Amino acid sequence: MRILVFNAGSSSLKFGVFETGADTQHLFKGSFERFRDGGCAFRFTQGTDTEEGTAPHGDLTAAIAAVPGVLTAHGLNDIAAVGHRIAHGGPDFAAPTRLDGDSLPRIEALTPLAPLHNPANLEAVRVAIETWPDLPQVGVFDTSFHLTNPARATTYAVPEVWRQAGLRRYGFHGTSHKYVAHRAAEELGQPITALRIISVHLGNGASVCAVNLGRSLDSSMGLTPLEGLVMGTRSGDLDPGAYGFLSRQLGLSMADIEAALYSDSGLKGLTGSSDMRDVEDRAAAGDAAAQQAINLYAYRARKYIGAYAAAMGGVDAVVFTGGIGENSPSMRRRICDGLEFMGLRLDHDRNAAPDLSDRAAPQIQSYGARVAVIVTETAEQLQIAREVAAHLARPKPEARPIPVAVSGRHVHLSAKAVEALFGKGYRLTEGKPLRQPGNWAAEERVTLEGPKGRLERVAILGPLRKRTQIEVSRTDSFALGIDAPVRDSGSLDGTPTVRLIGPAGHLDTDGLIVAARHIHANPEDAAALGVEDGELVDVRISNGVRDLVFDRTLIRVQPGAFTEMHIDTDEANAAGLGAGGAGDLVPQSATLRTAD
Ligand code: ADP
Repeated sequence: MRILVFNAGSSSLKFGVFETGADTQHLFKGSFERFRDGGCAFRFTQGTDTEEGTAPHGDLTAAIAAVPGVLTAHGLNDIAAVGHRIAHGGPDFAAPTRLDGDSLPRIEALTPLAPLHNPANLEAVRVAIETWPDLPQVGVFDTSFHLTNPARATTYAVPEVWRQAGLRRYGFHGTSHKYVAHRAAEELGQPITALRIISVHLGNGASVCAVNLGRSLDSSMGLTPLEGLVMGTRSGDLDPGAYGFLSRQLGLSMADIEAALYSDSGLKGLTGSSDMRDVEDRAAAGDAAAQQAINLYAYRARKYIGAYAAAMGGVDAVVFTGGIGENSPSMRRRICDGLEFMGLRLDHDRNAAPDLSDRAAPQIQSYGARVAVIVTETAEQLQIAREVAAHLARPKPEARPIPVAVSGRHVHLSAKAVEALFGKGYRLTEGKPLRQPGNWAAEERVTLEGPKGRLERVAILGPLRKRTQIEVSRTDSFALGIDAPVRDSGSLDGTPTVRLIGPAGHLDTDGLIVAARHIHANPEDAAALGVEDGELVDVRISNGVRDLVFDRTLIRVQPGAFTEMHIDTDEANAAGLGAGGAGDLVPQSATLRTAD
């Protein structure tokens, strides 16, 4: 499928044409930038040919309107769909979305959250709809990937009315972080769901993202793309007390302060130049301000890597991308030096000149270092093209209710755990069969004990597993006094330890989790619902009591499964759900967990 992708910024228009398929081809790359005096600079690349020069387009709107002519001149007809990068999707846009009369007003309403970025994106959408009224137009949001961040990562500790007004952390560069994290997992030959990856995107904008077992856990940008790292012209982290200080001392208005933080800060504020190549050259020539800027830039990035390793309980790979991450061996080196204590060490030669051609993702850590360090070009437009194609290829789902089962706290035991708790050679007594074929509740029970309290008579579910897993609700985890992470079943590395107590002894074991909500489905029901194994979907509960949407619910397809959604007691209480409840798939909510 031939897809045109727009990435419209406030001062540039980038676009690309892709032929998607098993191996997506980038057919054409174009940009219009530096708009001034009724003209702009252009650059087009097709195959190995590149054309550059000036074009008579004075602003973004004129540049977008010129794109159909450029495509025709390069023999690129038969465009089947248009994909748009949209910076801010707010809390609701978790997946690629058809841009139409329903979604566009909702996206426009998000403009106060991204006043510089969203209007340019929407201008591209407006011109594209006018130019190609019959083609599907699909938005892919920079924020979507981060909607899996837990509340502790997205909440600012501010008054409730502010939070109700929408003040929260979102995170950006999601398309890039998602692409490079998947690319890194591919390079390492391991499933992304088994890896803790820190993605470091260093371009004009810059952010770090903790990708924990395939999902974004936290990222350094917040409500807006201002928070976090030092950037080309943006400040990154700043004490919120600065606003009052600047207002009192310098008489600055909010608008003055905001404009300076977006456009006159970062490398530009520190050195006068926003371009890292200039700053590096000046530093090497002895310019003290440039030297300090480089130190500050690297120090901030290193702190975030350390913080995210702590947030994930470890790190398997760090990925560098973006103009600086891809091209500056000295910046990579400065950021990584000092992280040896956590197993991260660069190889001098491999770091010096990694070959990134053909979307390569070379590893540049020292031989034997525990943490892989990978460099790869980001490919946001390619990722957008793939997501648009996947979105359009989805079959129309059938509307049918999904039964919802509420899981109380329970444990799955290993054979070793049964012996430790019940005595050598003990066999659990199979009790009530569960609805998933082959599963049963044992007659025996165990006690869980944490530093704060105990939970008695906890159910044991069979059959035995290779590894003990203890599933509790968030409320239970507070009763125990242990911070249990939300995890998919079986994803137990780095989970906290809890004490299990049985009649014959006790066992301290890791494996304590709050189970991520999921839907078991057999292949027939999955096909009818239009979903696939590993996807995340939104499920609406409308029971007239406490209606809500459970977002990002994992689909698990297994032959013979009884199709039902599993949530825990906290979730059921939040939705006012008792036994016999059901939910409906929110149309078009499914997102792929893999890159394509
Ligand atoms: P954007 O975020 O606008 O897509 P890029 O990802 O292209 O920007 O990154 C631009 C930044 O990358 C600039 O600061 C530029 O100086 C820097 N950069 C590009 N090449 C190099 C290099 N060889 N060494 C250091 N910095 C570089």
